[in-house]
Amino acid sequence: MSFISFNLHPQITAGVKALGYDTPTPVQREAIPPVLQGHDVMALAQTGTGKTAAFVLPILDRLMKGPRRGVRALVIAPTRELSEQICEAIRSLGRQTGLRSTTVYGGVSMNLQIQKLRAGVEIVVACPGRLLDHIGQGTINLSQMEVLVLDEADRMFDMGFLPDIRKIIRHVPAKRQTLLFSATMPDDIRSLVQEVLHAPVIVQIGHTAPADTVCHALYPVNQHLKTALLIELLHHTDTESVLIFTRTKHRAKRVGQQLEKAGYRAASLQGNLSQNKRQEALDGFRDGSYQILVATDIAARGIDVSSISHVINYDMPDTADAYTHRIGRTGRAAKTGDAFTFIVREDEDIVRSIERVLGEKVERRTLDGFDYKKSAPVRDTEFARPPRTPQRMRQQRTSGAPIRTRQGARQPAAVRKPFRSSVHSS
Ligand code: AMP
Repeated sequence: MSFISFNLHPQITAGVKALGYDTPTPVQREAIPPVLQGHDVMALAQTGTGKTAAFVLPILDRLMKGPRRGVRALVIAPTRELSEQICEAIRSLGRQTGLRSTTVYGGVSMNLQIQKLRAGVEIVVACPGRLLDHIGQGTINLSQMEVLVLDEADRMFDMGFLPDIRKIIRHVPAKRQTLLFSATMPDDIRSLVQEVLHAPVIVQIGHTAPADTVCHALYPVNQHLKTALLIELLHHTDTESVLIFTRTKHRAKRVGQQLEKAGYRAASLQGNLSQNKRQEALDGFRDGSYQILVATDIAARGIDVSSISHVINYDMPDTADAYTHRIGRTGRAAKTGDAFTFIVREDEDIVRSIERVLGEKVERRTLDGFDYKKSAPVRDTEFARPPRTPQRMRQQRTSGAPIRTRQGARQPAAVRKPFRSSVHSS
């Protein structure tokens, strides 16, 4: 199957060709036809599957006909980074269409956004909070909106945006096409679908397991040795771009600094950065000036850098779904990638859930020549204990007792395997 069979407007097909897409991905194959026919669509698709083009292409096709200068399509996304990426995809795929798009999110000047909206755009990609500000101040006119997209709905729910989404929906025309994309389908999203979509066509791309172009490995290690292991692992591995996840903003910043000190071109991306700094880190990662980006889950949401060869979970995520989201950043669109996860004792339960989702046991590796027995430095308290998780904090509140970790406890037995450097197609 090729993109020709969708019979898209020639100026849109030209955009597809310019991006080098030959064959539609499964979610594009399944979702584009019903969206073109005007149906509401609910698609269960994780990041990295080509879901953005699955809604962008039919929207561009629809907007080629009809009036210009009014907002006719509204895409709502959870983070500024994802909004920018979607807007970038719209601009690249629609480069020959003359259709205009802009982003609307907080943390940057509202006036500039007002100017762009006033100048006339057909597509707005927005984060919920700032969009509501514009609606409240009457600086956006959504009366001509025909298509509403809710992207990464499950993440918007996780971030507490559901009430905002409901408010926004009260301000858009009832007669519209609604498309909802989500990697998972918790009950709250299911009920949102019932409320806001009309007789939706359901597109489900198999499962929520990570793409099978990713090779997974676990590295059991004591908490205080994670940074040393990370540096040693990077030293022995053939990588392109590397995305590292930590659980907290502070750890992201700190690990980024430690990697820089070790001579790597590394930056961190976390919520405490100004919008300029975030953009600078992202752009640098995208253009290769930073080889390594250390990020928290929320900051990294939707990062789309095609050459990510390795995702390294410095800290294990809280759920198997979060693991899937993180790993979705590598092995994208038929490339291969590696996912390395550092695990401590407390992570064994979540490892089992991940193995259930993957349907197989994940290989445990040890790095030859690395001193796993080194004791914790006396003063480095932050990195000698696991970060506080909601569960640990709850436990602490209910018991009233401080939570202690077993410093220097022996790590679980690991299958000893010689370390192999990974080879990737690019
Ligand atoms: P997404 O899931 O939308 O974030 O897309 C993941 C990556 O796949 C992006 O880098 C897209 O540019 C790329 N992509 C999307 N569709 C295709 C396609 N049909 N062929 C090749 N790459 C694609």
